[in-house]
Amino acid sequence: MDFAQILPPDRTKIEGGTFQFHCHPGVSCYLSCCHKVDMLLFPYDIVLLKNHLNLHSAVFLRNYTHICKGSHPFFPGLALTMRKDELSCPFLGEVGCSVYKNRPSACRTYPLERGVEHVGNSLKLKVHYFMTHHPYCKGHFETRHYSIDQWERDQMLHECNQYNDFWAELDAFFATNPWAGEGRAGAMQQLAFMVCYNVDDFRSYTEKHNLLNNFKLPKDERRRIQKDDGALPRFGFDWLEYILGGRKRIIKK
Ligand code: SF4
Ligand code: SF4
Repeated sequence: MDFAQILPPDRTKIEGGTFQFHCHPGVSCYLSCCHKVDMLLFPYDIVLLKNHLNLHSAVFLRNYTHICKGSHPFFPGLALTMRKDELSCPFLGEVGCSVYKNRPSACRTYPLERGVEHVGNSLKLKVHYFMTHHPYCKGHFETRHYSIDQWERDQMLHECNQYNDFWAELDAFFATNPWAGEGRAGAMQQLAFMVCYNVDDFRSYTEKHNLLNNFKLPKDERRRIQKDDGALPRFGFDWLEYILGGRKRIIKK
């Protein structure tokens, strides 16, 4: 697919792999992009944020998010809820982002946007980056240049991107409407919602149903899944595909 053909007018391809941009406290627009944001949260964003805030994921979801349209009609998205009074991000503090180290991937990636696609039969995802052009953002007029690699390093995007790619593959599977006629918010979709967005309840679920013991998993991976809130959703994604009739990336004992 040639993404350039379907880009909205305020997005452009990044020519030559580098772009001109610098965001710092000296720009006149500083923090204006943290207001009225329409921001989808991905599963790994929620893990990072709820751990940063030391909250149970169910509490985080209730206090900071709302359900929104996802990337297709067959699974909902989750968006960050802005503060009611000034419509700012709930994590915007007096001097900047109060969750900076664990901010969502969209904030790290901005002013770029990232998309992935499968090409042919290759299992590897092809990555595309685009530049956004919001008139309020003055960072485009600063003189610093970045390559995509430098930007990913600078914003510590590698781990987020890796998890988001797993999620993109699962979401593409959800787009095939694998809910066996249950329709929106049926029992399976509610289960999938918990696996994707509510890691602490999913952890309780795996323990209650002894889920990990039903699958052949290397010892160190099992230990990681038991302890690491990042590794558990990754197992959950594979498990969802397994039970919904998708790819079998895990093997039953
Ligand atoms: S609008 Fe652009 S330059 Fe201004 S603070 Fe946000 S990202 Fe930085
Ligand atoms: S999480 Fe931080 S960087 Fe992102 S919109 Fe909120 S305050 Fe801004």
